[in-house]
Amino acid sequence: MREKHCEICNNSFPTMFRIQYKPNKIWVFVCETCLISVKENNPYYKYGGTWKK
Ligand SMILES: [Zn+2]
Repeated sequence: MREKHCEICNNSFPTMFRIQYKPNKIWVFVCETCLISVKENNPYYKYGGTWKK
């Protein structure tokens, strides 16, 4: 069973977003709330797809 947790708030959600938001170019999964908070004014933000449970 695949289970993903948000990189930032560490909670599990039925829908996760694959993004980069740091200069390290590592793909992470975040929830929608955290996605909105990190993408704002973030030059490192890159969207890589949506993951559904
Ligand atoms: Zn989150």
